[in-house]
Amino acid sequence: MGLKEYWKKRKFKKTPEPKGKVVKVSKNRFVVQEHWATHYHFDFRLEMEGVLKSWAVPKGLPEKKGIKRLAVQVEDHPLDYINFQGKIPKGLYGVGTVKIFDKGNYELIDKTRDRISFKLKGKKLKGEYHLIKTKLGKNQWLLIKTK
Ligand code: MN
Repeated sequence: MGLKEYWKKRKFKKTPEPKGKVVKVSKNRFVVQEHWATHYHFDFRLEMEGVLKSWAVPKGLPEKKGIKRLAVQVEDHPLDYINFQGKIPKGLYGVGTVKIFDKGNYELIDKTRDRISFKLKGKKLKGEYHLIKTKLGKNQWLLIKTK
C-alpha cells in the first residue's frame, strides 16, 4: 500500500502527526492507540513491510480468548506514528485526541493474503491473535484472540 494515501489525507502544516517515510527495515512492534474522533475507537497497528499496517477497531482488542472484534483496515501509517499521541485539530482528518493504549513487540506466527496470526507481547495485551479478512465488505477483518 505505501504511504501515498496517508499523505493525501493530511495537511502536515496543520496536523501534529508525523509525515514519515517508508523504511527498509522493519522490526516487530505494535501499538494500540485510543482515538477520540467523531466516533470513539481504537487503532491497531503492526509494524510490517516498512510501514504500520493499520486497523480501526471500534470496540478495541479482545483481552479474553474466544472474543471476536470487527477491525476495519485503513491506510498504512509511517513507523513514526508508533509514538504519536496528541490532538488532531478541528477541520482535519481524524480530528480528536490520540493516546497510546498499549505498545510492545509481536511475534509473527503466520501470514497469508487473508489471515495474519501473531502473538502480542504488550503491557496490557498479551497472547495469540488472528486477523481474518472477511467477505462482508471491503477492508473488513475480524480480530480474534485464541490464547
Ligand atoms: Mn483513528
